[in-house]
Parts: sequence; structure tokens; C-alpha cells
Amino acid sequence: MAGLPFRQFVLKVHSRCNLACDYCYVYELADQRWRSRPRVMSPEIVAHTAERVAEHVRGHGLSEVEVVLHGGEPLLAGRAAIESLVSRFRSVVPAEVRFTVQTNATLLDREFLELFSSLGVRVGVSVDGTPEAHDRHRVRPDGTGSWAAVRAALESLRSFPAVYGGLLCVVDVRHDPVRTYESLLEFSPPAVDFLLPHGNWSAPPPGRAADALSTPYADWLIAVFDDWYGKPRTRVRLFDELLAVLLGGRSGVEGIGLSPSGQVVVETDGSIEASDILASSSPAASATGLHVARDAFDAALELPEVRAGRSGLAGLSGECRRCPVVRVCGGGLRAHRFREGAGFDRPSVYCRDLARLIGHVRSRVAADLAVLA
Ligand code: SF4
Repeated sequence: MAGLPFRQFVLKVHSRCNLACDYCYVYELADQRWRSRPRVMSPEIVAHTAERVAEHVRGHGLSEVEVVLHGGEPLLAGRAAIESLVSRFRSVVPAEVRFTVQTNATLLDREFLELFSSLGVRVGVSVDGTPEAHDRHRVRPDGTGSWAAVRAALESLRSFPAVYGGLLCVVDVRHDPVRTYESLLEFSPPAVDFLLPHGNWSAPPPGRAADALSTPYADWLIAVFDDWYGKPRTRVRLFDELLAVLLGGRSGVEGIGLSPSGQVVVETDGSIEASDILASSSPAASATGLHVARDAFDAALELPEVRAGRSGLAGLSGECRRCPVVRVCGGGLRAHRFREGAGFDRPSVYCRDLARLIGHVRSRVAADLAVLA
């Protein structure tokens, strides 16, 4: 049985970036296939992809899907190409298509914002908190920071509330957590995503030795959670999802809970990939050998690698299956479970952090429920 359909299609509309962020999972980790891919997704690949999404929607009776314009830096594709892509999808796909663009915002000028407003495209911006934190990582190829350009773009974005999707911040445990969070709040985001830096057992994340007993990422996130939980001033998707699963609901994001990921990726050359970040650990696990010109997305649903990442509890290691918080944790992101030569059959490299964070959130919720009882 093929399993649940894909509902989120990540389109790599441009394979290069005008920044050189030091933690970038596209350019700085194991997968270097971007070097041989076309820079821009051609109109032919866009047309094939739209037809394949339409086919998937019809085949599974979907009423809505999400298309995420991604890269590299998607705005490098240019206004005309993005407008044409959105029009193509809207004319071909027999369902509501929600568009999001995830950008570094350095090219996000008023013309782009007016275009996104007219097309109904929501914008997510990658920004890492304070100017110092941001410019430590998110630099141009000459080493200069991008903070000033991003701040200017965010000031403009605030005047397009229907376009403003939120902020995405990669956690750096060297920076003060609450100050980082407060810095993001200065831009009045409707939502904030905190992302753990990518890493695995063979290439541990920064500040997280693979065998260490400390929990620096849990400590960091707990400080933000306690501030947020007392007085939520925006949506923090990680916390929203943890609370939803703890209270018996389902998670809508990969890496929390046991719900299968609904995401599939199309590269600029039309190749279909299993996951946007899996390739950062293991390019072989992400590659499907499928292409939008000849293969349906249903063919990807049948592949063992794709099924392995979408099989819930059964797809986890024995240690995870026995874990008391597995229904909330879900073993974390599959990419974070990888060890060279041994694959994915183990807990996340963030296991201790995830267990501590979940335990803390659960105890806060339990205390509140006890008061209400
Ligand atoms: S906390 Fe660790 S062992 Fe438990 S489910 Fe998460 S990754 Fe697996």
C-alpha cells in the first residue's frame, strides 16, 4: 500500500544562493549535487511539476496542497519566473494551492512584496535573532553580514501583513535564548520557527558532542519556552506542536510526533527527492531516481526509502520504540538519526535534548492541568 499522499511540494526554483551561511545544509554538508544542477528551474520542469501535482491531487482527492518555493535563494529566480510558476500551478492544479516562499530576504524589495501580495504568496524569512547572532552565520561570500539588508526587508514586510508568514531562526546555543527570541519579536512575526542545526552521529551539531550527557539545546529551548508559555506573544511552531501532541492531537510538522511527513522535493533539474534535509546526512537516502518528466509522485510513495521515513513507530529504532516519550518525540528528524556506515536505525543525535525538552513541557502542562482539575 502506498500510504498517505504528499501534501507539501518543496520546489527548488533556484539552486544557488547569494549568501554563504556557515551552517547551510544545502552547500556545507554531505550533499554536493547542487554543483551539477541547473541554477534555475526551467519553464519545462515547472510545467511537468505542475502536471504531476495535479495528477497527485486528482488521484488522492485532495482539496488543498502547499507549494514551497525554496532554494538556494528562490528570489534569485526573478519576479517573472515566480509569477509564471504560480500562474501555471493555479491554472493546472484542481485544488487550492497555498504558496509560501522561504527566503533570506536580502532581495526582498517592494516590487517582490507587491507581487507576492497580488499572487497570495506568503513569505517566511530566515533570521537568526540579534544582529551579532545573525551576522555570525548569515554572511555574504565576502564575509560581510546580511543583517542590515534583512532588517530593512522585514520593516517593509510588516506593512504587508497578509504576506508575512513568519521567521525561521537556527538555534545557536552560544547566544542568549531569551535575547534571541526578544530580538525576533521586534519584527512582530505572526509565527517563529526554531530550527536545530543539522547534524548526525557522524557529524554532531555544534556544541553537541555525540556522546555528551549535557543538553545544551534543551536548556536553550526551555528558556525560550518558559518565557513564551507565560505570555505568548507570537506562535512558536515547535512549542505549539509539542503541546498539541502532548494533549493527544497530531503534529503537522516532521520531527515531532509520529505523523508521517507529507513533504516531497523537486530539484531544479526535475529530479524528485525524498526530503529537503535528509540529503544533508545521506544523499543516497534522499535520492529517488525519479523525475517529474516521466514519474508520478505516487512512484515515490512506493519507494522503501520514502516509506521508511513515513512509517511512524514501525520505522523507528528499538530504543526509540521503547522510549516513554516516543509518541511526542517521534525519534526527531530522520536526518538527525544517521550514522555513517550504520544508517538511520538509532535515536536522534538530539535524543537527550528532545527527551529533556519534552519532559519539561509536559511537566508545565501537567501542573496547569492539576490546577484546573
Ligand atoms: S527521546 Fe530519544 S529515544 Fe526517545 S523517541 Fe526521541 S530520539 Fe528516540
